[in-house]
Amino acid sequence: MKKEFASRVSLTSKSGLNAIYPSQDPEMISFTGGFPDATLFPSKELADSFQIAISNQHSPLQYQVGEESIDLREKIASLLNNDGTVTNPELIMMTQGAQQGLDLVAKLVINKGDGLVVEGPTYIGALAAFDAYEPNYYSVSMENDGMNLTELKRILIEKSVKLIYTIPDFQNPTGVVMSLEKRKQLIALANRYDVLILEDAPYRWLRYEGKSLPTLKSLDTQDRVIQLGSFSKILAPALRLGWLTASGEIFSRLKELKAGADLETSNLMIQTVNAYLSKYSLESHLTKLQKSYRIKKNAMMTAMRNYMPENISYTDPKGGFFTWITAPQNYDLDNMQIMSFKPAFHVMVIPSTNLFPDKAHKNGARVSFSSVSLSQIDSGIKRLGNCLSDSYQK
Ligand code: PMP
Repeated sequence: MKKEFASRVSLTSKSGLNAIYPSQDPEMISFTGGFPDATLFPSKELADSFQIAISNQHSPLQYQVGEESIDLREKIASLLNNDGTVTNPELIMMTQGAQQGLDLVAKLVINKGDGLVVEGPTYIGALAAFDAYEPNYYSVSMENDGMNLTELKRILIEKSVKLIYTIPDFQNPTGVVMSLEKRKQLIALANRYDVLILEDAPYRWLRYEGKSLPTLKSLDTQDRVIQLGSFSKILAPALRLGWLTASGEIFSRLKELKAGADLETSNLMIQTVNAYLSKYSLESHLTKLQKSYRIKKNAMMTAMRNYMPENISYTDPKGGFFTWITAPQNYDLDNMQIMSFKPAFHVMVIPSTNLFPDKAHKNGARVSFSSVSLSQIDSGIKRLGNCLSDSYQK
């Protein structure tokens, strides 16, 4: 058989997405995965909701041909409206996680060589999804209040850009929240240079401190923001249930692409989550998650203060799953092979190399606190601190 793969294959295989899965080594403390804490899954409630769904007289096991999810879409629309994002069930599409939304939006607009702006660093899985469409990436550096808009503006002036991908709330991997001022300026720039924005918001409702800022979608007056949401972090990733909201032709074309990709999202899962939201309170579940993750986040900050060498800085996220460490320029965290692990230290993080499209940034790393225990946070960050000082004494 002639094995001649499409050019996109060689790009996607470089994404490093496998790096986020936990190690099998029992000694290892892994801060790599953006996994929710499994002890917080509402398993009993979901089992009950599944029973309700599968007993539904309108066969939940059949293809639904488009109309399957109206009850759930109504509930999502009201969750979004309560959050300040005006939408309606007709403009919400269920997806297989937010990940499918990333793929569909890139499929919608990106031809080979088209300009695509991403935050630097960005979500590793977004690069994996986008790579397949062979974009020309422009990476804009992250600051403490979101992407650097001076850099963005320069890119928009000099290059032709079709899409800006951003995670404004508790960004993966830095944990940063985009300020309100930057949100407004970003919308203004997108209007001025006629670019679409993809707002990816899976962590938005996992805020542990402070008040929410308006979504980009809520500030959009020209229908140029496509927003993604997901039940993965707030209920369970195995549901593979997310949603997308957009308007006009963007929305109708995305629906066509979705049909071509997988016909429809699992109706059984849609009905299960619909039953869950009818019978149980998502709000109290979120409160429980926030309380638990807040404790972990605080433990992570304490461990960072206690064990990180002085020349390593780290973000203090107000929500989400991640903190980001930055070492001096001459550090090469990839070369230290923390990710593919240094046996003596038994600790794993995701080095920055994989989180920039050009793979050229080596002195940062994502450290996730969501799925590790409090004692693992303490001992793992101690190991990481030792590993960093050991590798770069001098
Ligand atoms: N976007 C971001 C920023 C993420 O962190 C993730 C999961 N790690 C996803 C999208 C995909 O999530 P899912 O498909 O499970 O909804």
